Amino acid sequence: MKINENFLKLQSSYLFSTIAKKVKEYSDSNPNAQIIRLGIGDVTRPLPQASIDAMHKAVDEMGNESTFRGYPPEHGMDFILEKIREYDFTSRGIDIDVDEIFLSDGAKSDTGNIGDIFSVDNVVAVCDPIYPVYVDTNVMAGRAGDVLPSGRWSKFVYLNCTAENDFLPELPTEKVDLIYLCFPNNPTGMAASKQELKKWVDYANKNGSVILYDAAYEAFISQDDLPRSIFEIEGAKTCAIEFRSFSKTAGFTGVRCAYTVIPKELMCGDVSLNNLWARRQATKFNGVSYITQRAAEAIYSEQGMAQVKQNIDYYRNNAKVISDGLKDAGFTVWGAVNSPYAWFKVPDGMTSWDFFDVLLEKTQVVGTPGSGFGPAGEGFFRLTGFGSAEKTLEAVERIKNAKF
Ligand SMILES: *Cc1c(COP(=O)(O)O)cnc(C)c1O
Repeated sequence: MKINENFLKLQSSYLFSTIAKKVKEYSDSNPNAQIIRLGIGDVTRPLPQASIDAMHKAVDEMGNESTFRGYPPEHGMDFILEKIREYDFTSRGIDIDVDEIFLSDGAKSDTGNIGDIFSVDNVVAVCDPIYPVYVDTNVMAGRAGDVLPSGRWSKFVYLNCTAENDFLPELPTEKVDLIYLCFPNNPTGMAASKQELKKWVDYANKNGSVILYDAAYEAFISQDDLPRSIFEIEGAKTCAIEFRSFSKTAGFTGVRCAYTVIPKELMCGDVSLNNLWARRQATKFNGVSYITQRAAEAIYSEQGMAQVKQNIDYYRNNAKVISDGLKDAGFTVWGAVNSPYAWFKVPDGMTSWDFFDVLLEKTQVVGTPGSGFGPAGEGFFRLTGFGSAEKTLEAVERIKNAKF
């Protein structure tokens, strides 16, 4: 037997284990330290009550012979697909059919699995810094080539996101086949305007590329003129796939529900990518549990939407508190407005990891070093609004009172 050798090329992800190790060492030698963790990329607020009620009801249905359900349809049940279509698309003037929506267990799996329908020969463009899933899954598939001393991969085309371009990447100068974009972005917290996305849609249509658009943080958009879906952009249906998730939107990180939209107009020659993905999912995926689909449906109720909004406002307010506090303390900050993430420049002369250590030492606040998201993240740092409001305020006070 032979293994997929590409797996051996993967670098162990030291980021979160290194953070945990450093924090443990610090708290072992400073047992009285009140550590505040603002490095987390996971929600902390409980599920909306509307979802809880719907799940209880669904559980009871599963316990009754006349309402019990077995395998759900692989692509999702009509009641949830109809809600998604109406509330996430029709309401924004986007015409999406229910058979263009594929319900799933997560945007992580979907953004990782989508590579199944594409040839290994495709040239992949990735942002730097980036959500590591897009990179690692292409390494596994053999599209990345070899790792270079810089930490970058030989076959990828890199889209630099820097302070100079406000972390909004420029078009590649060469032709690429697959383009991963994520807005509002993790880790930088920056959102893209319609004009910005139009540039990518035009490039992709001209070059026969596909944009893999991760909109997991769409619910955090606060500026009304920003697009919540790439399908708000004219021409996107012939060049884009969109990934959405209930994880950050409605606190479903532990429940698991997401969806992917592949328009029927999206073709490679005479082959429909929608058909390929339908075939892939029908073969490898057996659907989202009925109970979860009812929980997801409930967030589109009047009550559910109000509860979701409360949670989003809570996190976004934390992000604003962090961003305002950092600015007061003299830092240059990006993101936080349409995102739970504040991204900022560490003091001159420090690396991201240097700052991690100094921040922990001086304020007992834990964050995430930007270099953990790619070489271009070096010199930057991420704090998240997913903590409690009280602890977030306390962390910001400590940062403002410290000298770096
Ligand atoms: C959290 C996150 C997701 C969501 O993944 P799920 O598998 O749906 O929980 C997707 N993309 C990015 C960039 C994320 O940060």
